Amino acid sequence: MVVKRNIDTKTTIKNPKYIFVVGGVMSGVGKGVASSSIAKILQARGLSVTAIKIDPYINVDAGTMNPTEHGECFVLKDGLETDQDMGNYERFLDIDLPAVNYMTTGSVYLSVIEKERNLGYGGRNVEVVPDIPLEVIARLKKAALIANADVVLTEIGGTVGEYQNVLFLEAVRMLKTEMPENVAVVMVSYLPVPGSLGEMKTKPTQTAVRMLNSAGVFADIIIARGPVAVDKKRKDKIATFCNVRPENVISAPDVPSIYDIPLSFEEDKLSSRLCALLNLSCTKTSDLKAWQKFVRSSKETKAIVKIAVVGKYFSSGEFVLSDVYISVLEAIKYSSYSLGLKPEITYLSSDDFTDTTRLKELKKFDGVLVPGGFGKTGIEGKLKVIEYIRKNKIPYFGICYGMQLAVLEFANNVLKLKNASTEEIDAKASDLVIGVMASQRDKIAKAEMGGSMRLGQYETILKKGSLAAKAYKATTVHERHRHRYEVNQNYVERLEAKGMQFTGISPDGTLMEVMELPKELHPFFVGVQYHPELQARPLRPHPLFTAFVAAAYETHHQR
Ligand code: GLN
Repeated sequence: MVVKRNIDTKTTIKNPKYIFVVGGVMSGVGKGVASSSIAKILQARGLSVTAIKIDPYINVDAGTMNPTEHGECFVLKDGLETDQDMGNYERFLDIDLPAVNYMTTGSVYLSVIEKERNLGYGGRNVEVVPDIPLEVIARLKKAALIANADVVLTEIGGTVGEYQNVLFLEAVRMLKTEMPENVAVVMVSYLPVPGSLGEMKTKPTQTAVRMLNSAGVFADIIIARGPVAVDKKRKDKIATFCNVRPENVISAPDVPSIYDIPLSFEEDKLSSRLCALLNLSCTKTSDLKAWQKFVRSSKETKAIVKIAVVGKYFSSGEFVLSDVYISVLEAIKYSSYSLGLKPEITYLSSDDFTDTTRLKELKKFDGVLVPGGFGKTGIEGKLKVIEYIRKNKIPYFGICYGMQLAVLEFANNVLKLKNASTEEIDAKASDLVIGVMASQRDKIAKAEMGGSMRLGQYETILKKGSLAAKAYKATTVHERHRHRYEVNQNYVERLEAKGMQFTGISPDGTLMEVMELPKELHPFFVGVQYHPELQARPLRPHPLFTAFVAAAYETHHQR
């Protein structure tokens, strides 16, 4: 009997092509930005491109993971908590991506199991292969359909040869069998130059290709990452031993910034190679003019603006993890470049400021930003930092927890509510100026913590004439959220009586989304309940970040 596989096989209007990016040799060589860059150069050829990230872990999404382990959690417009690579895609492509474009092993299994529980497989035996890869393929096709894409670019997390991602490689193999003309595989490899030898070695790449082949998947393009460019001799060698044409070995030496990568790929004509491989009609010559202009503006020497980011997820052993706040850091950069400034960003660990003698070090910064965060640790230092910069009139930008803590500090020190707190830290405090959102109480009680915060895009109405409205040049804005707590409405009147203003409110009037101090009290003191950094794009800097950086620079130059 022929078993009907219950997957969405609707064909799209277009005949989308699928490009998979897999990692060879080792992780951490920039597979994510390579994928974003490939998507970018194809987009620049006039193609409609959508981009997918597959993470091979069991977590259903990236929301429950500790940022020091996994880096930033990037929230999509529709609220899915994803990996930071999705942020790179959105920034490089300047498009919003839907939830179907992100998947983990856990989320795929969950769908298959739910479907089985709902008799979606018609009583047949449901198996790891082919049912898991078929679910993956169904999602890729759905993403193609939603985006009406010419090209669906998918990065498969992890490296070849590990157990974790074999089912995704199996999906590649199955899709290629189904439509051989429509699938191309790019392997991002690494060519080390051992210090003792001083010669670039191709052997690890050869081994990685063999491992990939043993999964029934064959690389069409090899991106040869390395400290330096790959020479012709080694390109030929890779071609011979790895079954690719020499022109399909793309040299990808280290470059000064991730934004150089699309330009670097085009030096080896990568978009043309892919178009030829997949028979894509990208006749348009590459239009990366705006991108090039942005890259140039990031490199011009100009006046410096010094921004401190005070967080708590920076250290991991001896290493500093700037990845945890990557969208915030990039947002600062875009706004600075657009103002003709060069940002000098310093990461400060809030714990260092529990010792108040160190607070005066903050004076050397033009502006201070406290990003989002969770839980008790690091709070004491953040509150001291906020008090110091409020009193010393150093421009401040508080994001999510950074806004809540600014409200708490104000309640503590201006309203003199000494026993004020946020319910997240001390539910028994007498003045809970930050309280749990009504919609969250039940979820917390039942410990339903995965994917259950107030997530994704919501509308905010800004007060006319406010600093925020002036920055946005609008009074209705849409921003992405990720929180369980909110400013307690019972304190709004008292806070406003002392000068704090709530200038952004949810359309139903219940949620305080933007807080600011008027110019008479402070040159720039703004907090937002949402995450504006998630919508900052290289070619479209975020207006609030731009207002913050501009105020930081100007205030300092008046000091
Ligand atoms: N922990 C706070 C909340 O849940 C802030 C969250 C955040 O900064 N993203 O409301």
